[in-house]
Amino acid sequence: MVDIEKKLVNYIDGEWVLPDRNNYTAVVNPATGQTITKVPLSSDNDVKAAVKSAKKAQKRWALIPAPQRAELLYRVGSMMKERKEHLAKLLTMENGKVLEEARGEVQEGIDMAFYMAGEGRRLFGQTTPSELKNKFAMSVRAPVGVVGIITPWNFPIAIATWKSFPAIVAGNAVIWKPATETPIMAYELAKIFEEAGLPNGVLNVVFGSGSDVGEAMVADDDIRVISFTGSNETGRNIAGKCGMKLKKVSLEMGGKNAVIVMDDADLSLAVEGILWSAFGTSGQRCTACSRVIVHKDVKEELTERLLTEMEKLTIGNGLDESIKVGPIINQGALEKIDRYVQIGRQEGAMLLAGGYTLHDEKDNNGYYYAPTLFTDVDRTMRIAKEEIFGPVVSLIEVDSLEEAIEINNEVSYGLSSSIFTQNVNQVFAAQRDLDTGIVYVNAGTIGAEIHLPFGGTKGTGNGHRDSGLAALDVFTEWKSVYVDFSGKLQRAQIDIEA
Ligand code: NDP
Repeated sequence: MVDIEKKLVNYIDGEWVLPDRNNYTAVVNPATGQTITKVPLSSDNDVKAAVKSAKKAQKRWALIPAPQRAELLYRVGSMMKERKEHLAKLLTMENGKVLEEARGEVQEGIDMAFYMAGEGRRLFGQTTPSELKNKFAMSVRAPVGVVGIITPWNFPIAIATWKSFPAIVAGNAVIWKPATETPIMAYELAKIFEEAGLPNGVLNVVFGSGSDVGEAMVADDDIRVISFTGSNETGRNIAGKCGMKLKKVSLEMGGKNAVIVMDDADLSLAVEGILWSAFGTSGQRCTACSRVIVHKDVKEELTERLLTEMEKLTIGNGLDESIKVGPIINQGALEKIDRYVQIGRQEGAMLLAGGYTLHDEKDNNGYYYAPTLFTDVDRTMRIAKEEIFGPVVSLIEVDSLEEAIEINNEVSYGLSSSIFTQNVNQVFAAQRDLDTGIVYVNAGTIGAEIHLPFGGTKGTGNGHRDSGLAALDVFTEWKSVYVDFSGKLQRAQIDIEA
């Protein structure tokens, strides 16, 4: 169906190069357990080579006018569009998400290409009056230099485009370490950049583990920004090291996202929103719904409707268009999900559906988990507070909007939240008081659009955002420029004429 190289190689300085050491690991299709290719486990020498090439390339790239840099992104976006189906199939094979979602993820990358290409003709700074006569004042965005992006397996192409496209249009050079589980999208995107005519060294892809390649990137003084998406633990570790080096670091680290269902909600719509946010991508999204905070007056009806619809979910290999829920990424993740389900049972939550691993009849070596629903979940339970990253949802009953918001906000993450209600007063109170970086009204917790900032509060991030215009703040430095054309020395704050 689709061609994949038997072994991937790194992309450094515009060349496809063998890694420093002859060490590879298998890339496994999570739907079947079959090896689809092998990926290098590169070393810090490969990172050094990439940094050398990026440093050289960045100086030239930054001098190319931004609208011309943007032309390159327009070409990349068009090529992604032409190859959308090919990319989506490969994405389903390496990550497992169902084809419909894989197409959506590739589309997100295409949207990001065109959006950021537009920024090539903006990259707005500010002009402002000077306090002195015959003096001009403005601020401009300057590229940071060489930037490192470290991406996870759950969105192997979209997240990379959120980070690399703004970095490239702003005049930086990029070193990208994709997750070892999902390197194929990185390989394909690098090929597109190469064919689109990106100058050598502006994008470098180094495959390998977080502990080798990731840590070498964090440690390298010439990489001036690290933009990371992944677990809270790894993010904290990276932030600590970058902090000591005064290196700019942008972190996006997941969530414990809730859908609030009020007593006046359109329950059919709420059920659809919950199913899509909780079981889409098998719950392996940082914005996945893993808590439903439901008003006591509609809890019973909502529960019944959810169970009825959950029974209709088809689980299996995402290449089959009839499948709605694909596999879990790997055995370790499957075990983590099951551990949380056992914890929920021990804590006294009532299991209403799922709660077990299962095998697809045709692809019985894949990693599958049954969509799982708990009720009678207390807000203090671990399953109500910790990120599970799988198809597991907890129902928590409340009496009022105030209580729902309090429960939503008391977890250590703050990425996404949603409320279903027809009451405009409740809508506006909720969008003000929910403490997450993203709030949805009458929609589930997933569905971010690329032209708005993506990220969150508390344990979700460190104040930066991916996507939207905010992404440019990660990959640029503000430079304030004062031009004095008075012909004399004018001292700010002192030589002001009355
Ligand atoms: P990690 O945070 O370990 O991995 C994310 C990325 O960071 C990968 O590219 C990984 O490389 C890299 N990495 C790992 N360790 C280091 C390090 N010391 N220095 C630099 N880079 C590093 O997440 P996992 O894939 O292990 O998933 C574990 C949990 O994290 C999930 O169950 C989920 O809860 C959460 N998660 C959240 C995501 C989100 O969207 N916010 C995405 C993915 C996971 P490699 O894997 O190749 O070794």
